[in-house]
Amino acid sequence: MSRLARRALLALAALGAPWGLAAGPAAAQPFPARPITVIVPFAAGGPTDTVTRLVAEAMGRDLGTTVVVENAGGAGGTIGAQKVAQSRPDGYTLLLHHIGMATAPTLYRRLAYDPVGGFETIGLVTEVPMTLVARKDFPANTLAEAIAVIRKQKERLNYANAGIGAASHLCGLLLMTAVDAPMTTVPFRGTGPAMQELLSGRVDLMCDQTTNTTEQINSGALKVFSVTTKERVAALPSIPTSAEAGLPAFEVTVWHGLYAPKGTPAEVTQRLSQALQAALRDPRLVARFAELGTAPVAQAMATPEAHHKFWLDDIAKWKPIIQAAGQYAD
Ligand code: ASP
Repeated sequence: MSRLARRALLALAALGAPWGLAAGPAAAQPFPARPITVIVPFAAGGPTDTVTRLVAEAMGRDLGTTVVVENAGGAGGTIGAQKVAQSRPDGYTLLLHHIGMATAPTLYRRLAYDPVGGFETIGLVTEVPMTLVARKDFPANTLAEAIAVIRKQKERLNYANAGIGAASHLCGLLLMTAVDAPMTTVPFRGTGPAMQELLSGRVDLMCDQTTNTTEQINSGALKVFSVTTKERVAALPSIPTSAEAGLPAFEVTVWHGLYAPKGTPAEVTQRLSQALQAALRDPRLVARFAELGTAPVAQAMATPEAHHKFWLDDIAKWKPIIQAAGQYAD
């Protein structure tokens, strides 16, 4: 074949010629045709990472492909979110993020990506309680005693968080506002590494999802003062709610959702949503979530539409709170 004829055939193939000279355009292939990557915008070993690994494994079973988890922590989750917003919108790069998706649009006034318009929603995943925990030798045994220590020692105490906009940051702000005393905040790339510092006593206090604290609490490696929910948590039945322990203003839960970059085809986000729903029905996942103090959302919430509405409502809920506090990340 002449070089010219070969070039003409290759050009036709690149246009997706239908007679099988080359694979057709990617959109014509069944989805998924290869492994999928889910970005966790926090360090490995933390609560968002734990939830994502369980969901990824179960989704992979439904999709018939591997769902790889990649950690891109830092800046309260905005580094990982940016990575996904700027990825190809083909369904092969996803983001599993938490409540920080609702606070970043107001907390961060300068971002290199669009924190709302840069994403397609796939579905909500779970809403996780938080716990206020302290190093094992912290000089308090109840929330009232801990508050007295915080009011007395103030900035001499180190409060660990995962950066501005992280759930641990929001929870700390609520606590410090409720007790009217500041502490020194020490940011990490996620509360996985922060937990190691707390266990070794190098920081004093942290507020974190039960998906990272339940096992440490139950083994006695940490002190715990309250769960930040209205009701007690089944996996931690003896731990009082903040209201029971005397601080009703200290209530926060951490919702998580799955996102794709803006422009991902609707049939792809629908297929991913189906896989997410299947994952959230998976008995192994449900059992592990329960051990970690949480539960999957109702199936109707694991859809692009329900997730999108919930997310926008939550952005609107946090906006006036952040603006009134006047505390921005930049
Ligand atoms: N729990 C962290 C937070 O404070 C994030 C993480 O490491 O999963 O948002």
